[in-house]
Amino acid sequence: GAVIGIIGGGQLGRMLSVAASRLGYRTHVFEPGANPPAGHVADRVTTAGYDDHAALRAFGESVDVITYEFENIPTEALDVLEGAAPIRPGREALRVSQDRLTEKTFLRDLGLATAPFADVPDAAALDAALGRIGAPAILKTRRFGYDGKGQARIMAAGDAASALADMNGAPAILEGFVSFSAEVSVIAARGQGGDVACFDPGENVHRDGILRTTTVPARLSAAQRTDAVLLAARILNALDYVGVMGVELFVTPQGLVVNEIAPRVHNSGHWTQNGCAVDQFEQHIRAVAGWPLGDGSRYADVVMENLIGDDLDRVPGLARNADVAIHLYGKAEVKAGRKMGHVNRIIRG
Ligand code: ATP
Ligand code: MG
Ligand code: MG
Repeated sequence: GAVIGIIGGGQLGRMLSVAASRLGYRTHVFEPGANPPAGHVADRVTTAGYDDHAALRAFGESVDVITYEFENIPTEALDVLEGAAPIRPGREALRVSQDRLTEKTFLRDLGLATAPFADVPDAAALDAALGRIGAPAILKTRRFGYDGKGQARIMAAGDAASALADMNGAPAILEGFVSFSAEVSVIAARGQGGDVACFDPGENVHRDGILRTTTVPARLSAAQRTDAVLLAARILNALDYVGVMGVELFVTPQGLVVNEIAPRVHNSGHWTQNGCAVDQFEQHIRAVAGWPLGDGSRYADVVMENLIGDDLDRVPGLARNADVAIHLYGKAEVKAGRKMGHVNRIIRG
């Protein structure tokens, strides 16, 4: 039987692995950390670092296709893997999305609206950028940021020095603050034949930089819904993308503004597990394995809520609720700010 290689053993890798198993594949997960959530469900796990080229090569040679839950795979690791099995989504999507400056430039060159942005290699560049973009603004590390980490708000020019210090010397970009009425995301999929299918956009609420809830349907007009889907398709086509992508958008009176893209299944797409016949994980496996895309039309209204840290204590109570589907990641240790699971609440009309 065919084997799907998954790089990254977190909850996304775990749910991808389950979906792959359901389609009859075996899975092999590559993960540097010990005891990963995906390790309990995958057929095979390799525990090794991204600098262990022998382990990477052996992993690549043991699988038929390589996919990933994690976009920050080092370039040298990708060079090794590429020699062993096809990587889907492709390397261009990784190159573009590993660096916020490259990503924003790519989106702008596609003709899409983004926050105003500027490269900030040093303090002088930050002064110049603030002069052009103005406050409020957000300074973000170009690489490795997630869950709002590596970001500092600049409410007035006087905050610049401390914001720059928060970057710990890492290259950064300055983004003008977008005054949005809502945040939404499109979970889009593109198959190997170039067909594109999008799940219904979800409306996202963040707290402390971390996604708390996604609600479908999002409160969007028909025109905004069409715009969201069309711009997502434009992004996937431009990258000759194969697989599922999360596209985060700000809703503004001037139209939709793209915040960021994630070249993988996305937390804001977890509602699809209980709102669609084919969820984002199966859709991704279908695409990377060369199947036709599935039917992701939405048959229920859903509120997805992340269980973060001590939220896990609410599970016994949630388990008594008939309309709540519970998804736990099997993480060994509860930590503040750590995503431990999520629930999908079906809203019956
Ligand atoms: P993720 O976990 O989604 O990958 P991240 O760490 O990459 O998050 P962003 O998505 O860039 O961070 O920002 C996190 C949140 O901060 C956004 O969802 C939004 O609420 C707010 N935010 C980020 N950039 C801007 C901006 N330019 N204007 C206004 N709000 C912003
Ligand atoms: Mg991000
Ligand atoms: Mg984000």
